Amino acid sequence: MVTTERRPDIAELERPELESALEERGHARFHARQIFGWIYRRGVTEAGAMTDLSRELRATLAREFILTTPTLAHRETSADGTEKFLLRLADGRHIESVFIPDTPAMTFCISTQVGCAMACAFCLTGKMGLVRNLTAAEIVGQVRVLAGALDMRDTRFNIVLMGMGEPLHNYDETMKALRILGDEHGFDMSARRVTLSTVGLLPALERLAKEPVMPNLAISLHAPTDLQRGELVPINRKYGVGDIIEACKRFPLKKRSRITFEYVLLAGVNDSPQDARRLAKLVAGVKSKVNLIPLNAAAGIPFERPSDDAIDRFAKILADRGVPVSVRKSRGRDIRAACGQLIVEGQKKSAAQQLALVM
Ligand code: SAH
Repeated sequence: MVTTERRPDIAELERPELESALEERGHARFHARQIFGWIYRRGVTEAGAMTDLSRELRATLAREFILTTPTLAHRETSADGTEKFLLRLADGRHIESVFIPDTPAMTFCISTQVGCAMACAFCLTGKMGLVRNLTAAEIVGQVRVLAGALDMRDTRFNIVLMGMGEPLHNYDETMKALRILGDEHGFDMSARRVTLSTVGLLPALERLAKEPVMPNLAISLHAPTDLQRGELVPINRKYGVGDIIEACKRFPLKKRSRITFEYVLLAGVNDSPQDARRLAKLVAGVKSKVNLIPLNAAAGIPFERPSDDAIDRFAKILADRGVPVSVRKSRGRDIRAACGQLIVEGQKKSAAQQLALVM
């Protein structure tokens, strides 16, 4: 018989919510701190192993709560040390998360949706379409699983929301996940170590600008004109380049911080000297830097990566005009873990079939 689980999922709860849930069941609120410590700092998921809690509280936790954790279905290591994790969610869907060592910091690249609705012309995840949003528990769950699998619970790392999905298209769960990750009794991730990457959904961007704690912002720009960007990033027909730049100018930035403009370089499409000059002019009024991402080519993606000379020439035009610019080094391409290469096909197929497809 299939029953619907009605017990609260601790992985879904911000600490104040857990405090209230404990109080409702006759336990002191402060125990939520201990429980957060066990789950996020020590990776303990069994109430029975939380040894500084009373026997009664452990029994309450075991009886009246659940704690969901994504399961590690497959793990693959690239020649450059990048690792790709295939995680299975409670409903059998799969997502991918990536660990990128020494960039120079350690970085976890985390997904916010199964698939993505944005359908950017050069991105494999976009080919999947949107399957569903992830819950805050599933977003944080990726960090829990990676920190455990990599034995990094006591190591500092950064988080980039650059895996599968468009974080601002799953606004509430993404923000809730950031609050859980930021809890001082849990992962204690400062917002400065989190970067949210978005195509620039304007209403959500305006909302983000008013959040009490805000991650670093990266905007996937990819072209300097609406004509070009509309071909690459379909949502541009709704939220155009000019409006995005204006929103960026208004965006409240902390001291010394800048907005990153991501720009995927596609040979013969958006990599000409004229494109570079237009881009420099466009971003001139924004406290920003440009991160050039040479295309990670893949079967089914109808574009090519520019030559190294073309990439250098493009970067130099920006630098000569005073725009801070970097070229993103591609990581994990041999295991299809690089930008735009995350895809889990055939969601309705068996796990084994899926693995065969993905790997
Ligand atoms: N939806 C968010 C997060 C996506 S991924 C966003 O669009 O920003 C992070 C970056 O990888 C984005 O800038 C995305 O455009 C880029 N990307 C997608 N496909 C790529 C590919 N094939 N090669 C290089 N970068 C790619």
